[in-house]
Amino acid sequence: MKFIESLLRPHLRKLVPYSSARDEHQGAANVYLDANENPFGTVGGGAWNRYPDPYQTKLKEAISGIKEIDAANIFLGNGSDEPIDLLIRAFCEPGQDKLLCFPPTYGMYRVSADIHDVEIIEVLLTDEFQLDLPHALDASKQAKITWICSPNNPTANSIRHEQIMELVKATTGLVVVDEAYIDFAEQSSLIREIKHHENLVVLQTFSKAWGMASFRLGMAFANIDLVQVLNKIKPPYNISGLVQHEAYKSLMHEEQKNDWVEEVKSQRKWLLSQLEQLTLVKKIFPSDANFLLARFDEPTHVYQYLSGLGIVVRDRSKQPRCEGCLRITIGTPTENKILIQALKDLS
Ligand SMILES: *Cc1c(COP(=O)(O)O)cnc(C)c1O
Repeated sequence: MKFIESLLRPHLRKLVPYSSARDEHQGAANVYLDANENPFGTVGGGAWNRYPDPYQTKLKEAISGIKEIDAANIFLGNGSDEPIDLLIRAFCEPGQDKLLCFPPTYGMYRVSADIHDVEIIEVLLTDEFQLDLPHALDASKQAKITWICSPNNPTANSIRHEQIMELVKATTGLVVVDEAYIDFAEQSSLIREIKHHENLVVLQTFSKAWGMASFRLGMAFANIDLVQVLNKIKPPYNISGLVQHEAYKSLMHEEQKNDWVEEVKSQRKWLLSQLEQLTLVKKIFPSDANFLLARFDEPTHVYQYLSGLGIVVRDRSKQPRCEGCLRITIGTPTENKILIQALKDLS
């Protein structure tokens, strides 16, 4: 049995997936009477009356060029939330298999696990927000999927590649590396490693650097067998035609994304230097992302004060190892100045 098949929940090995009209007839035709669509057009205008490409072929070709990876190694989801959900759905038997994650981290791993009634083992990150490798390696032996977020949300730092790769080599399950913030990071992506490790999955998203949060478009990169498993169990038309069309157009403007990333990074530096001068701020953690994690003596007070001025940050002070911490997204220069002025006034 192939590796991915051996990890798959047994009942899915023989699943016959839904076969859509678009699966059963491919290529051009003159008369489409196979999918019960409206033949006239779209009410209110536009030409969206036909079902979209279930495998997003054209969009994947464009992503393949940008990411320098075969289109066959790409899975697209309705946000990263969808591959997170589908991976658990595919590989974890409820009430039996286990997941592993490293708090403080992104909350969706636990929520998705809870939805599927899959137990989640937590091994805290160290004080430097790196993996506690001995405990991580030990726990990963019991885990069907290990989630690593790098750069990590909400701590903003990257997890060192050597640590991640040690886990990838040691575990018998899958390791999913969530690189939602990779565009802002000094450390490179692990996307090249999927060729060498069939248990590695890399997640990225168009929601952050690319500015398409509202599209709901996330990417999973993995070996072909794993991509095929996700394709088999996904809702047939999970990416709308509108999103495929708009995202394809946006991909032609990669230089704008790169310019904005540079601007965010320079604003990150400015915000950091300003925050450092405030006595109110106890500590600011190094950031490889488009946000800063800062520690305050009275985070709730600061949060409420800012909120009263219409400035919303994220209170992460209840998360383990994040005592006193607020997470601040890097805004435009004007927004960042407003924040700093407000904090100065409070000091
Ligand atoms: C924002 C974020 C995502 C993106 O999720 P989408 O569903 O693609 O919008 C994924 N992972 C982490 C850690 C994030 O912070």
